[in-house]
Amino acid sequence: MPSRSDDGVPRCLLCSMDCPIGAQDDGLGHVSTVFPAELGFDQGACVRGLTAAWVLQAPDRLLVGRMGEEEGAADAVLRDVVRAASRYGGSQTAVLVDVSRPIEGVLATAALCREGGVRLAVWAPPADLPLVKAGLTACPPFGEIADCDLVLAVGDPFSTHPVVAASVRDMQFGARGRRLVSVDTAVGRTGRAADERVAVGPMKLAGFVAALAVECGAQAVASALGGRSGREICAALDIPFERVAGLAARLKGTDKVGVILSNSLGRYSAPTAVAAAVKELSAALGARLWPLLIATNSALLPRLRRRFGATDTEDLIRAAEGGELKVLCVIGCDPSSVLPQRLWRPLVEKPELVFWAGSLRCAFGDAADAVVPLTLPWQEEGTVLSSSGEPARFVAWLPKEPTVLTVSELMMRAAVHGGAGPVRAC
Ligand code: SF4
Repeated sequence: MPSRSDDGVPRCLLCSMDCPIGAQDDGLGHVSTVFPAELGFDQGACVRGLTAAWVLQAPDRLLVGRMGEEEGAADAVLRDVVRAASRYGGSQTAVLVDVSRPIEGVLATAALCREGGVRLAVWAPPADLPLVKAGLTACPPFGEIADCDLVLAVGDPFSTHPVVAASVRDMQFGARGRRLVSVDTAVGRTGRAADERVAVGPMKLAGFVAALAVECGAQAVASALGGRSGREICAALDIPFERVAGLAARLKGTDKVGVILSNSLGRYSAPTAVAAAVKELSAALGARLWPLLIATNSALLPRLRRRFGATDTEDLIRAAEGGELKVLCVIGCDPSSVLPQRLWRPLVEKPELVFWAGSLRCAFGDAADAVVPLTLPWQEEGTVLSSSGEPARFVAWLPKEPTVLTVSELMMRAAVHGGAGPVRAC
């Protein structure tokens, strides 16, 4: 087990829940997940978290760098990349960094970009962007779900964030009459566990939630829709109004309402409208709202935009397609695992030099000109933004391999090779 620092515990960083979790090595190279109670492992973990230890030994794990066809040590590759990139101006260069890496590494990257006049873009799961846009970046403590009399789940939180299910089940079984109501486009895990299900077509969910918000007294939604009533919204979208009216009456008649919003990409259309309507619905009801971001640190996006002028992947794709980008450095994320080929291919094919730093081999890394191995996020220590929006420290589960770098180390060495001073994030 890793030793505990004064202010940090090991955490699973595979989603925004940042569950305390740990791993142990049996000395023969077998790593397994553990949950020592004294470190606060009280909420368990989901299957994804349990498999995180396995990734350490995955056959695709990257432990050595590459420049062209030649393998090389991370630092030597980095030196060659910095030298090659220096032939281009800062404005022709861009860095895309994964927001879910420790804040220290993300800020070091942003600071170095600012110093070199390099365009900075931040990678976050596309499903998080609508929630961030609606300002839904922090949750109340999850334990408070158990105090609600009725929980309205929009989307399928039991699938996207399985550990939330424990608090919802505590709510359902805590007292007679408590209800979980699922509003979703298909019957998922949440729907199967719900006391009541409302199935809405994927194209109609935004309309359903907007009508519900209006019927619950959300003035902002009503004004945004030209003063239409819930009945009129339903009529325009061919949604049975009785379902909206019945649910609105129950929500208004319940003392403590909780709302959970999960956005898994592709589950419904117009997610930005859904997020905005759910926000207003919760405010009108005086309900507590748990918006579930997919990635840890996605809540940092607005601050990175404000403070460092960071843009997003879409902006980079446009710049690459337009021939503006000559050098692209992608750090910690794998666009090829999330974006369709037509979107990620220009990123790796259009610039003259593409550098990728990552932990596991992928199609994007294989197509890049230069590659440097990075730690897995749970092999380093640092800070993340917890689901409550507060910084939370974490320590490594296991030591990193000597050949791989953290994002902070990568930035420090890039600064040295580029002749810059020490990287200051603040
Ligand atoms: S819910 Fe998220 S943070 Fe918790 S164990 Fe699962 S993947 Fe990891």
